[in-house]
Amino acid sequence: MSDGDGDVFDPDVYLDALQVSFPRLRVVHKERDAFSALVHRALLVVTFGAQRRYLDDYVTTIGQTLYLPRGWDTRSAKSRYVTLRHEAVHLRQFARLGLLGASLLYLLPVLPLGLAWGRARLEWEAYAETFRATAEVHGREAAHAPALRAHVRRQFTSGAYGWMWPFPQVVDRWIDGVLAEIDGEG
Ligand SMILES: [Zn+2]
Repeated sequence: MSDGDGDVFDPDVYLDALQVSFPRLRVVHKERDAFSALVHRALLVVTFGAQRRYLDDYVTTIGQTLYLPRGWDTRSAKSRYVTLRHEAVHLRQFARLGLLGASLLYLLPVLPLGLAWGRARLEWEAYAETFRATAEVHGREAAHAPALRAHVRRQFTSGAYGWMWPFPQVVDRWIDGVLAEIDGEG
């Protein structure tokens, strides 16, 4: 895009900026990546098949590598931008906690499934950013959309992330909190 205003929510411009903040940032396409195929199969096993969309629907950040799902390029620019804002939170978490620290916090409570407090905290920090970015790009109404709330609630309570926080009312309170903050800003 050429005009200044249009660049604000441009995912490519945003990715370039991330590359400056995280010089070792790498972008990998899951469908061409053997490691991602392995993760996909492992997730099928540990979630008893509940997470089967890893290669298709989910962008994943590990360390300073961004793994993009099939069809990423066909998503709208704004959708890609909002997703990258979420992943940028994970990049900062890895920078803050280190690869080992963040990975342990994220993965250790995988067994038993459910009640993965570390993963839920890290994901909530990132999903809060999803709501903020949605409000900035699409307006506050969009951040309040029931479909977005249902989608985020499902990520916490379903097998998508191994039933990391299976308490819909708690997740709803987190969402209420971030929406109140967004509404209270300027
Ligand atoms: Zn996330």
